[in-house]
Amino acid sequence: MGNVSRSLCGVNTTYVYSTDLFSQGAKAQQKRERNAAKAGATAKSQTKSNQAAMNIVCQTCKQAFMLTTRAPALEEHAQSRHSKTLAECFPTYVK
Ligand SMILES: [Zn+2]
Repeated sequence: MGNVSRSLCGVNTTYVYSTDLFSQGAKAQQKRERNAAKAGATAKSQTKSNQAAMNIVCQTCKQAFMLTTRAPALEEHAQSRHSKTLAECFPTYVK
């Protein structure tokens, strides 16, 4: 009898243990997937916004500037680096 109850107990314990592990593992996996999806989305949108933010390119030296760069800074670059005007270095820039 002692043997039976011990083995039952062992089975029971193993079952609970593995279920617990499984649910913990599943939860962790879900969490990882959520985090990965979150991180992926963030990374993607950051890459996108970085590309969008760097789309003022000097046509003379190909240096990229933030989209938010003000005209005076671009003009200064054009004049001090190339002795050119803003329009010559940044023909696509709209003031
Ligand atoms: Zn330049």
